[in-house]
Amino acid sequence: MIPAPFEYHAPSTVKEAIGLLERHGDDAKLLAGGHSLLPIMKFRLAQPKVVVDIGRIAGLDKIEAKGSTITIGALVTHDAVEQSDVLQKQCPLLPETASVIGDMQVRNRGTLGGSLAHADPAADYPGAILALEAEIVATGPKGNRTIPAKDFFVEMLTTALQPTEIITEVRVPAIAGKGIGSAYLKHPHPASGYAVVGVAVVLQVSGGKCQKAAIGINGVAGKAYRASAVEKALVGKALDEKTVADAAAHAADGADVQADLYASSEFRAHLASVYTKRAILKAASRAT
Ligand SMILES: Cc1cc2nc3c(=O)[nH]c(=O)nc-3n(C[C@H](O)[C@H](O)[C@H](O)COP(=O)(O)OP(=O)(O)OC[C@H]3O[C@@H](n4cnc5c(N)ncnc54)[C@H](O)[C@@H]3O)c2cc1C
Repeated sequence: MIPAPFEYHAPSTVKEAIGLLERHGDDAKLLAGGHSLLPIMKFRLAQPKVVVDIGRIAGLDKIEAKGSTITIGALVTHDAVEQSDVLQKQCPLLPETASVIGDMQVRNRGTLGGSLAHADPAADYPGAILALEAEIVATGPKGNRTIPAKDFFVEMLTTALQPTEIITEVRVPAIAGKGIGSAYLKHPHPASGYAVVGVAVVLQVSGGKCQKAAIGINGVAGKAYRASAVEKALVGKALDEKTVADAAAHAADGADVQADLYASSEFRAHLASVYTKRAILKAASRAT
């Protein structure tokens, strides 16, 4: 339970942090809230020779509304996402998601950027980030690049980030009102609290019919995915219970459904349908 020895750096700017990543290459690891990295270092599953603590870099902990977009700094904690007035009013899906991550200690320390970069398939944010069609801003030696959520999660614990890039910001759309409803529901693992299945839904409804559906599912496969078959089955329809149940039956279509000691792949696929149906109905009830 004691990590292997490492050199510790606490840069005060993003530029300095990127310089350290360039200098130390694969030997270096960024540290944000530490709630994923430190446990794996203690188990010696990760043994970085250099730890670059970005937690003291100023300016990465802000949430700001800019027109129809809300920018969230990479160091914003899960608790700050949950408590944010701006997000609660304009993008309630994200606070709802943050509110069910781990426990109070985890939410006080863990960060949005750290969770996305870690890309744990059972983490809660990825489904919401996909359903919101968010953008992840990565800063590297050549400046900023914007990665659409759909391209960000590559496979289990792997993202589109380059080794010398740091997530600095996440951009989500302001979606409240305008006939849009959203919901995140999860079936938590009874011991860890991580998502066995987590379903994030954003619906646009007008004239009693679904105009657009975006559904992100985490926990089920090696990486979070958009449930496109479900989305397609909803668009153009009134969201009555039968239509929603028929559509939700496709929640695991095309997914490489994982199995573990807690849930077989059959049980997980079943949970995916059940939670997708519930999350769609909840989002529909909020689409006013
Ligand atoms: C007991 C426990 C229960 C938990 N339960 C849940 C849960 O229910 N749901 C859930 O979603 N999560 C859960 N977590 C994980 C938690 O949300 C972590 O905080 C999160 O996954 C990682 O964020 P962090 O800021 O702690 O990152 P760190 O642990 O500091 O870093 C994680 C990884 O991301 C990299 N990284 C960090 N920041 C950046 C950045 N800005 N740019 C690029 N790379 C970066 C690091 O190098 C490292 O590889 C739990 C953790 C614990 C310990």
